[in-house]
Amino acid sequence: MKTHILGFPSIGKFRELKQALESFWKGELSEEALFEKSVELKKRHWSVQKNAGLDYVVTGDFSLYDRALDLTFAIGAIAPRFAPLANANALERYFAMARGDAKRNIAAMEMTKWFDTNYHYIAPEINASAQWTPNAHPIVEDTRLAKSLGFNPKPALIGPFTYLTLARSIGEADKYSTLDRLVEFYAALIKTLSDSSDLVQIEEPILCAETLPSRAAKRFGEVYATLKAAAGGKAKLALTTYFGSLGDHLERAAQSGCDYLHIDLARGEAQLDDVLRSLPNETALSLGLVNGRNIWKTDYSKALKLIEKAVSKLGEDRVAIASSCSLAHCPVDLDEERALPKSIKDRMAFAAQKCAEITELRDIFVRGDKAALAANQAAFENAAKEADIYNAAVRDRAAKVTPDMLNRRSPYEKRREAQSVLNLPLLPTTTIGSFPQTAAIRKVRLAYKKGEVSEAEYIAAIKRETQDCVEKQERLGLDVFAHGESERNDMVEYFGQQLGGFCFTQNGWVQSYGSRCVKPPVIYGDVYRKAPMTIDWITYAQSLTKKPMKGMLTGPITILCWSFVREDLERSEVCKQIALAIRDEVLDLEKAGVRVIQIDEAALREGMPLNANDAQQYLRWAIDSFRLAASGVEDKTQIHTHMCYSEFNSILEWIAKMDADVISIESSRSGMALLSAFADFNYPSEVGPGVYDIHSPRVPSIEEIAELLRKALLHIPKERLWVNPDCGLKTRGWEEAYNSLENMVAAAKIVRAELSRA
Ligand code: GLN
Ligand code: ZN
Repeated sequence: MKTHILGFPSIGKFRELKQALESFWKGELSEEALFEKSVELKKRHWSVQKNAGLDYVVTGDFSLYDRALDLTFAIGAIAPRFAPLANANALERYFAMARGDAKRNIAAMEMTKWFDTNYHYIAPEINASAQWTPNAHPIVEDTRLAKSLGFNPKPALIGPFTYLTLARSIGEADKYSTLDRLVEFYAALIKTLSDSSDLVQIEEPILCAETLPSRAAKRFGEVYATLKAAAGGKAKLALTTYFGSLGDHLERAAQSGCDYLHIDLARGEAQLDDVLRSLPNETALSLGLVNGRNIWKTDYSKALKLIEKAVSKLGEDRVAIASSCSLAHCPVDLDEERALPKSIKDRMAFAAQKCAEITELRDIFVRGDKAALAANQAAFENAAKEADIYNAAVRDRAAKVTPDMLNRRSPYEKRREAQSVLNLPLLPTTTIGSFPQTAAIRKVRLAYKKGEVSEAEYIAAIKRETQDCVEKQERLGLDVFAHGESERNDMVEYFGQQLGGFCFTQNGWVQSYGSRCVKPPVIYGDVYRKAPMTIDWITYAQSLTKKPMKGMLTGPITILCWSFVREDLERSEVCKQIALAIRDEVLDLEKAGVRVIQIDEAALREGMPLNANDAQQYLRWAIDSFRLAASGVEDKTQIHTHMCYSEFNSILEWIAKMDADVISIESSRSGMALLSAFADFNYPSEVGPGVYDIHSPRVPSIEEIAELLRKALLHIPKERLWVNPDCGLKTRGWEEAYNSLENMVAAAKIVRAELSRA
């Protein structure tokens, strides 16, 4: 039985890649040094896999920014706006595509969530009538390097169907009409790779997502036959699926002609029987048993039953044991955690430990290692006994939630009248909440964490920042203020730290995009609010201005989706517990005189399961949780919500059901395309489509923003249109943030004037 993983995190156990990238971008690190650092990381990660006893190490999982971008760059499908960089060096061009080029005023490529994960990939832009000029793909060198160092490399590529389906179509022609050219590219690459590897992983998670159109799907078998031929019998191909069950694509995947089919049994356990029935005799099955999406140990007894089932049908030679998906979605090394409660840590496994779990499972199965099995079971049992996992008061309160607790007192139209006390102009301007997290803020927070400054000093420093931020908004002339969130390291962690049932890792970082990482909190027990969480900061900020100050909260769905969640309680129940805690905070804010409360649900869309049935169920309880959190307030209290980087169209009905008074959303990069959906749907309340992209340092011009607002007004009645950036500004510097907002306010004024003349 072969053992392998689908990918290892690139970032490094202490985020070494992040540091190297950011120094490089600042010009403090040379290109050579950046490459040296990445080689060091790759070697380290291959060693982890080899030392764990896995049969392969993965190449092509490591990227300086994003794997989808690596492919786009190698294919040479580069949008014309990057033409001014034609003579720049490869790395500069690559990073310009990822991050935009401020100097040349070129916008970055669009970034969006990788399926239902919190990882963002750079969406390919495919113009079917454009020429492609291929570049070298780093996977080739990496595979050679691994081989030369004595590792057994398995190169991993995003498959052509997934790549094309995730691409944006630019221009008239259908993006799928490039399939032949694309397959030619893949075939050449696979041919090269098969010189230094005997197995190539081709990932088609799109097969688990129900979004592959039939005109593409019907070419699947033929394309894979071409790829197989390209490998020329030298390398085997592993058709790799994950993030769910194959569903309707099962036959297609089983009949691909690839040597292996990999399936995700963490997300799609129920598909095993069907897959075993469909698998042709010559195909081997890779069982994705070790969950790449969580931080918990694998339940061995459960996994062994699945191995047993597969082996009894296929025989040991035709079964491989693997991670369910790439381990890039979990942190790197649990051994670096020194502060977790023992009973909780004993239940955990990060990427390095998951590698070891895979070979341990094989050993238990093949050699019947009883002690390892017993130790695994004991870890689960001990945690249940020792940690404060069960809280009777929380369970009782959740059980007593009644339907009326999910409803505002009056419908939107009535609330709108009550909210006129806010006295806002047409096209009110606001921000999404956070303002630049300056070096000074980070420094004082670190010093406070290390015990070098007192709590009083820390609070005084953050208060100064807040005051500065309020003064700047005053000067900018925004209409609804935010306090800037400078006391928050992260919008979920900040709340998790104040809630019961959460614990934190020291180094549990997971890449979110490029050099950015998040350190998700861990929900291990019942969740409850210990004390008010935001009231002091918001009331302090409100005391500095007469403008309405928004109370800023992270919503229950986002807290759930951006945490690592216990697996011994339904997600819907965990979400409800969080919602009750947030509800208490909302009511306390209202009591403290806060008139506008924003409950961010940035993660709603990405948390949606890929399968349609599961998605409906999820939306039902997720939206109920939001309503439970938001609905306790009086009519005159204005509830905002915010969502970023989401595909909304298919769930607008659910977003409307959230019944927020105002929603702010990402939309500038799609040129407001999203809004026609809001108009068609007749979205009932107020909308703030983001008017500029905060992921780029580029300062948008007044006219550019005004034009977007005019476009938005074609879809949204002027009484219901808000003006705001796409998302929070914490990753930006003050200069660009200030200048952008200044232009935004100016644009709002221009368009307001046009409206009053009309
Ligand atoms: N209020 C948060 C901020 O401004 C929202 C961030 C988000 O949507 N990701 O940073
Ligand atoms: Zn956002």
